[in-house]
Amino acid sequence: MPKALIIGGGIAGPATALFLQKAGWEAELFEARPQPESHGGLFLNVATNGLAVLDQLGLRDRLVALGHHAPYMEMWSGRDRLLGTVPNGPAGEPERGSVVVRRDELHAVLREALAENGISTTWGARLERIDEHADEVTAHFADGTAATGDILIGGDGVGSMTRRWIDPAAPEPDYTGLLSVGGFARVPGLEPTPAVQRMIFGARGFFGYLVREDGEVYWFANPTSPELDKTAFRRIPGDEWLDELRVLHADDPYPVPQILDAATEVGAYPIYELPHVPHWHRGRVVAVGDAVHATSPNAGQGASLALEDAATLARSLRDAPTHTQAFGAYERLRRPRAEEVVAYSRAIGRQKAPGGSRLAVALRDVMLPLFLRNATKNTRNNHLYNHTIAWDDTAATSA
Ligand SMILES: Cc1cc2nc3c(=O)[nH]c(=O)nc-3n(C[C@H](O)[C@H](O)[C@H](O)COP(=O)(O)OP(=O)(O)OC[C@H]3O[C@@H](n4cnc5c(N)ncnc54)[C@H](O)[C@@H]3O)c2cc1C
Repeated sequence: MPKALIIGGGIAGPATALFLQKAGWEAELFEARPQPESHGGLFLNVATNGLAVLDQLGLRDRLVALGHHAPYMEMWSGRDRLLGTVPNGPAGEPERGSVVVRRDELHAVLREALAENGISTTWGARLERIDEHADEVTAHFADGTAATGDILIGGDGVGSMTRRWIDPAAPEPDYTGLLSVGGFARVPGLEPTPAVQRMIFGARGFFGYLVREDGEVYWFANPTSPELDKTAFRRIPGDEWLDELRVLHADDPYPVPQILDAATEVGAYPIYELPHVPHWHRGRVVAVGDAVHATSPNAGQGASLALEDAATLARSLRDAPTHTQAFGAYERLRRPRAEEVVAYSRAIGRQKAPGGSRLAVALRDVMLPLFLRNATKNTRNNHLYNHTIAWDDTAATSA
């Protein structure tokens, strides 16, 4: 049985391992973090298309049971006026809408599936070097250990070392100038928001939240910030971010200030993008997920793209006569879609920057309702959500 070394136990890595096993490969996963609990993270939108991929692994219902079903997003002005409602899934099909889950819950669902399928994960294994030989590839880890397989798949995220091994001149991620700072909260008396996430164009910044049936609030804000050194950034305590956000959102309507006053488990992430990575594979090494097309979270599609990559790569490896042909087919099938979504998400991000002058904000508050008037019926984005990977069909792998 051919063997794949998979680097990264985020979303793309575990999903690729699960699909590869279905495709008749042995998969072994290596994750830099010391243990599962160290993953942390806030919450994310798993879109209809990502749920469809999880369905192919038999994991959709497990995840949906944990999440907040959110087929709609409401857009509100900083003056507490509903500007419009947009579908978060295929228009007119709310039952197929996307789901918001805690990131650690998605990781746990994938991890349980790995364990159930007997796929080995080594924690604390930070890839440091790759050596390719004529008929195998070796991954060397920071702790001095090594592993050898037929191919190596890098699901090692936006800072990917696999991407740099594939192409030492690969672009560095673009910093968007926005942070995602968020967490959880409980605000006494705050009503649940069934089927909805609320987005607010606040006076000085963008804010989003939802309230689960049991009253737990998931919230995030997108303050602007110059790019900070990674180590310095990690040292900033959650309370410091909260202090900043309380000032930034002080004039925003209920319940924004109240959520910030009750906030817990605050985390902050700089938002990076990789709109175009020229090379996705070289020799026996290929990359998936954020490693080759990191997207801002605005479209809520990054995790779903990673899941789609996993299914597509495994299907190509199952059906192509050689790994080289499989990698080529995978890239051909995935690149146009991934780059479209990254660009779309970037365009949404431009609207999130603070509104500028009072006139510009007033104009936006007049124009947006017109623009969003029939948005719940607008099928323009349906192709994003209806994308499926025909796992049971043979992949076209010839160039
Ligand atoms: C604040 C924020 C909010 C987001 N919200 C959403 C959302 O709502 N919906 C959505 O779909 N997407 C969202 N995203 C994007 C989404 O998180 C990513 O697209 C998704 O996690 C990509 O999965 P991945 O497996 O490719 O990478 P990751 O999830 O980043 O996983 C990479 C893994 O590789 C490991 N790793 C890195 N280097 C090495 C190494 N050298 N050796 C071994 N292991 C290594 C890392 O520790 C990590 O576990 C958001 C992102 C951010 C930052």
